[in-house]
Order: sequence, then C-alpha cells, then structure tokens
Amino acid sequence: MATVKQNQTRKNIFSKNFRKEVLNFLTKKNYSKLFILVDDNTSKLCLPACLNVFESFNEHVVIEIPSGEQHKNLDTAKQVWKELTETNADRNAVLINLGGGVVCDLGGFAAGTYKRGINFIHIPTTLLAQVDAAYGGKQGIDFLNYKNQVGIFQNPAATFVNTEFLKTLPLEETVNGFAEVIKHGLLSGGEFWKRVTAIKKLQDVDWKKIVSDSIEIKLSVTEKDPNEKGLRKILNFGHTIGHAVESALISTGIRTLHGYCVAAGMIGELYLSLKVCGFPPKKMNKVVSFIRSHFPPIDLAGIASENLQQLMLHDKKNSYGRIQFSLLKNIGEPVINVEVKDEEISNAIKFLNKGL
Ligand code: ADP
Ligand code: ZN
Repeated sequence: MATVKQNQTRKNIFSKNFRKEVLNFLTKKNYSKLFILVDDNTSKLCLPACLNVFESFNEHVVIEIPSGEQHKNLDTAKQVWKELTETNADRNAVLINLGGGVVCDLGGFAAGTYKRGINFIHIPTTLLAQVDAAYGGKQGIDFLNYKNQVGIFQNPAATFVNTEFLKTLPLEETVNGFAEVIKHGLLSGGEFWKRVTAIKKLQDVDWKKIVSDSIEIKLSVTEKDPNEKGLRKILNFGHTIGHAVESALISTGIRTLHGYCVAAGMIGELYLSLKVCGFPPKKMNKVVSFIRSHFPPIDLAGIASENLQQLMLHDKKNSYGRIQFSLLKNIGEPVINVEVKDEEISNAIKFLNKGL
C-alpha cells in the first residue's frame, strides 16, 4: 500500500483524541460562528458526544435535516441556505457536517456555494462516509433522479474520523460501507486485503485500523488526481455496473443501498477482469465467494440487460459515448479506460444475476 505525503486535504483525518483535536482546530481557526448540520438520527446518536466541544464556543447553531438519500436534494440544500441566511452566517462561519454521506455531501455543497463558499468540516458517522464519501472533495446533491448530478469539487477545511460513532450503526449500514472497504482492498492488495478477507462477522470488527488504512488508500489516489483525469478512475471499480444496478432498482421503486449494488457491480466487473484483463480464474472465484459471504445476490429478474447497458452509457465517467471500465489485472493491479464488447457486458450481467 502506497503512503503519501501529508498535505492540506488529509489534515486531522484520523483523530486519536477526537474531542480535543476538534476543539483545538476550531479554536485556532477562530470562526465567527459554528453551524452544525445533523439529520434526525445523528442529532440523537452522535451530537450529544460532541456538544460539550461546540458549547465551549459562544455562537453555535444546530441545523437538522431529514435523514435518507431521498432528501439529498435541492429542497434540503435550500433549507440549509435559508437557515444560514436567517441566522446571519457570514463568510467566516463554518458548517460542521456531522452525519453519513448524505449530511457530508449535501452540507459540503451547501457550504461550498453559500456566499460563494464558506469553510466546512466533515465528521462522518457511517462506515460508508468514513471510508469513502468524506474524502476526495466531491460535494453534491441528487437531481432529477440522477445521483450526484449537481455539485462541486471542494475540500473540507478538515475531516475528523471517530470510529466510536459506528457502534450505533444498524448492521445493514455497516454492510453497506463494507463494499467500499472490499473495493479498497482489491485495489491495494497486500496486507490490507489479507486483513479484509479475514473478516467473517462485521459486528465483531474493531474498525479503527481498517478504517484508517482504507482512508489512506482512497487519499493516496485522490490526492494524486483531484479532478478525476486519470488515476482516480480506479476508484470506479465495481461502480459502472454497480451504479447501473442502483439506478435501475431505484427507478423501479425497489429500495436499495449503494454498497449492495457496488458489491454486485464488483462481481460483474471481476468477471470482465477475467475475460478482458487476464485476472486469474481461481482467485476470481475466491473473491466472488468472499463478497457473497457478506452480500446476498440482488434480484434483477425484472430488469433487462439492455436497460442496464443503457444506464452504463449515461455514467458521468464515460467519454465520447463509450462505456469505460476500471478493472483489475490482478488483486492490487487496477487498469483504467477498458472498453468491453457489449456481449461480454451482458455475460457479466448474467454472471452477477445467477450468483455462484
Ligand atoms: P451513507 O450510507 O451514504 O453514509 P446516510 O447519510 O443516509 O448515508 O446514512 C445512512 C443512515 O444511517 C441514515 O439514516 C443516517 O441517519 C444513519 N446514521 C448515520 N450515522 C449514524 C450512526 N453513527 N448511528 C446510527 N445511525 C446513523
Ligand atoms: Zn461507491
């Protein structure tokens, strides 16, 4: 696993003494006023553990939004802009996003555009946000049924991670985040992958080391390619098929979570890796069984393969109307911009559909 130099984007990321580090950072920054963005769950489950830090500042305002991806939209962003405006947030105010991917994404977008941009801080509280959504500088909202359709590239002033928050997370949300941990393991290989594949029961995991290593892997990629020109595309592994599955299920009204679709996407893209990039077959079977041991197969019976391929074509990460995959030559050896024949794509969809 590559290590990279410290710079602004990774400042304060892994907190040894969470409260003290947040307090020190805020004291140094001397913000005019603190705004804390929570949803209806994190206001009860996470805010109490931080309140004594925020209360040591005279001016702090809590903004609560409804929980759930269906609220990561313009109406909720408007609610945040409205509350910032009505409580006189000036350009030296800061918005602290205390929540999962939805709070971090939407809060980062609302803050990054309010008065042409005020500082924001992420305190991710779900596994998915701690290992993925809170880094890489992408802030955004969903629009017209498209995920993350409107947004900005902007880094938070700091990100503070405390795995204690994960203790109240429902198991389904832990499984959801684990898909990205598996992805980081497949991209990096080595010791990290060994430790990930040793995980049998997610309830028993001490997340500290897994989360900090997973962050390290994501940052080592995003820092080298902040605007997604090349290398960063490797993070898209499992996501070309995964996003198509996610969109198809959402549009047919079936409730799903990102990580479950990415797990299915990784199985389909492992198949493509084998067919197109020479990924070793025995290893593929092992990896697929490992993914299956944590993720049940997704029922795609009512969804046509052509429909999924059409959705893949619309992926923001494609260019010039061609589907571009990020695949693996082997564990720890990603390749980007791979074009695959339509027939292989439909075979990959069949493969993930029938399960093992
Ligand atoms: P993501 O999975 O992208 O992080 P959300 O922000 O929607 O998505 O979070 C998933 C769900 O988990 C939401 O209902 C949210 O309120 C809830 N949640 C977030 N953090 C915690 C936590 N530490 N404990 C329990 N529930 C949480
Ligand atoms: Zn993802």
